[in-house]
Amino acid sequence: MAPRGRRPKPPRHLVDLAPEERVAAVEELGHSPLRAKQLATHYFTHLTTDPERMTDLPAAGRTELAEALLPSLLSPVRTLQADKGATVKTLWRLFDGVSVESVLMRYPNRATLCISSQVGCGMACPFCATGQLGLTRNLSVAEVVEQVRMAAASLEAGEVAGGPGRLSNIVFMGMGEPLANYKAVIGAVRRFVDPAPSGFGMSARNVTVSTVGLVPAID
Ligand code: SF4
Repeated sequence: MAPRGRRPKPPRHLVDLAPEERVAAVEELGHSPLRAKQLATHYFTHLTTDPERMTDLPAAGRTELAEALLPSLLSPVRTLQADKGATVKTLWRLFDGVSVESVLMRYPNRATLCISSQVGCGMACPFCATGQLGLTRNLSVAEVVEQVRMAAASLEAGEVAGGPGRLSNIVFMGMGEPLANYKAVIGAVRRFVDPAPSGFGMSARNVTVSTVGLVPAID
């Protein structure tokens, strides 16, 4: 049982680990260190965590590796569509039963995902419904990045009105004050912009961190 007052952490996930930690993790499981890069390529380039699609990994170990290092972190609870399906808002349930939202907005020349960085928010901006909830907890790097991978995979699979496409922009304007969860947000931004197989290889100019102005974090 977790100590009183301390929240359990999300399951270990490849995205939370540095490259050398990924190698150590696959070796601990008795697999070749090469599997770390292959798993990262499936995640960041092929946008999948499904071992059935990882046909370059030995069949005997791919399910074990995916379950150990790419566990499910977000489950969709509800989706709402607007603009004839070009805007999709998803409510996600996390491993501990709490929820966050992300919103995918497709335009003729770009697709933007608005993501959450915290469950609730401690900033209490008077105009904001999330602010009235108070802060429940910070998201981990992988919980932030999973919002992006799942939206990008959905776009690529043609599940969003307008046919198959690519996610081009990310904005931290969902639940939470990103700079109040600075370490995880910076870790997530690195995964967005790092080239494959360490990240999605997005342009840094297309990633926007929106803040109410948490001055100590900006300094
Ligand atoms: S910082 Fe953002 S999420 Fe938090 S209360 Fe203010 S507007 Fe809402």
